[in-house]
Amino acid sequence: MISREMLLLGKEPSVIRQIFEYSRKRKDEIGADKVFDFSLGNPSIPAPKAVNETITRLVSSLPSTYLHGYTSAQGDMGVRTKIAHNIENRFNCECKAENIYMTCGAAASLTITLKAMVSGNEDEIIILAPYFPEYKVFIANAGAKAVEVKCKADTFSLDIAAIEKAINKNTKGIIINSPNNPSGVVFSKEELEELAGLLEAKQNEYGTEIYIISDEPYRELVYGDKTPTFIPKLYNNTVVCYSYSKSLSLPGERIGYIFVSPLLKDSEDFFAAVCGAGRSLGFVCAPSLLQRVVAECDGTASDIGEYDKNRRLLYNSLTAMGYEAASPDGAFYLFVKSLEADAAAFCERAKKYELLLVPSDSFGVEGYVRIAYCVSYEQTENSLPAFKALYQEYKGEK
Ligand code: PLP
Repeated sequence: MISREMLLLGKEPSVIRQIFEYSRKRKDEIGADKVFDFSLGNPSIPAPKAVNETITRLVSSLPSTYLHGYTSAQGDMGVRTKIAHNIENRFNCECKAENIYMTCGAAASLTITLKAMVSGNEDEIIILAPYFPEYKVFIANAGAKAVEVKCKADTFSLDIAAIEKAINKNTKGIIINSPNNPSGVVFSKEELEELAGLLEAKQNEYGTEIYIISDEPYRELVYGDKTPTFIPKLYNNTVVCYSYSKSLSLPGERIGYIFVSPLLKDSEDFFAAVCGAGRSLGFVCAPSLLQRVVAECDGTASDIGEYDKNRRLLYNSLTAMGYEAASPDGAFYLFVKSLEADAAAFCERAKKYELLLVPSDSFGVEGYVRIAYCVSYEQTENSLPAFKALYQEYKGEK
């Protein structure tokens, strides 16, 4: 007898993976340049030059047993010190090496943080729809219950009244993801301040701790005059789950960190629980070489100009055609209203034009599709007639 839950999880590929597999097949059949695959959030911009240079330098200058050996479970002390120093300087907030725990990317940061904070199966974690679908898997694995709250229709900004309704004495935390996957929305400082005020009041009312888990793999991917708000500055009980997957285009290298705010209640104990959770999940330590690489490159980011070009071209062209989309201020996703209520049916129809889009249902909202524009400018440009033909088909214009 094996775990039924794990069996189901393993056998049921995510919607995104299914589309990705379809894309591979279709590209073999008709040629890669004829398929407009916007399904996967895999960075299309190369890692900054500094990343490869640092790897080469480290590999040729440091003893192999040191470079590839285990580090301490929390991460190399020099690495943690450097990252903490950068956080202090950049965000003007207190952060020491003792607050930083190196991880295998945001997914590991989240699973470790959730495992560290959940103390019983009545614990509830609020997730805001639209959300990254894996949150539900991670929360279930930590032994808590995911409580879904929808963001405001159309703008996908925070619905503070709806969040308030969802909070009770069992609420342990709320995951905030800004810039957001899949909506591309960056939450404003004002709405986050309002959320912080609400959580403070609820903590006082129930005599509990309610943590913000700030999932920030897209922190560096913002456009125009937007800057994401650094939540530990607004709310003490915050844990930041960071990753270099998108900022340095290193998703396959599995590297990130957890920052447990020193202002969080009993921060040292929380950090110790993070170490315990990492241990119980078997992480041992984050990849040793990559820890050193990101410490050297922390603060640099891939040149997001290419994403910005795609973003502007797609947003301007699609809205001019008649599509409606959420304001795409960050990440590399455009969240577009489906032209029929059933987003999955819309995506099926889009396939006729070789457009591969992700229906919003698995993100917790209906009637939208996600376009991941981390693709070449050429693909973006070439896809426009297909979007136009799809629109015209729906409007009976052809
Ligand atoms: N959180 C969000 C919102 C994401 O979009 C992703 C990946 O796409 C992750 C977490 C996981 O990131 P990582 O690859 O660093 O584990």
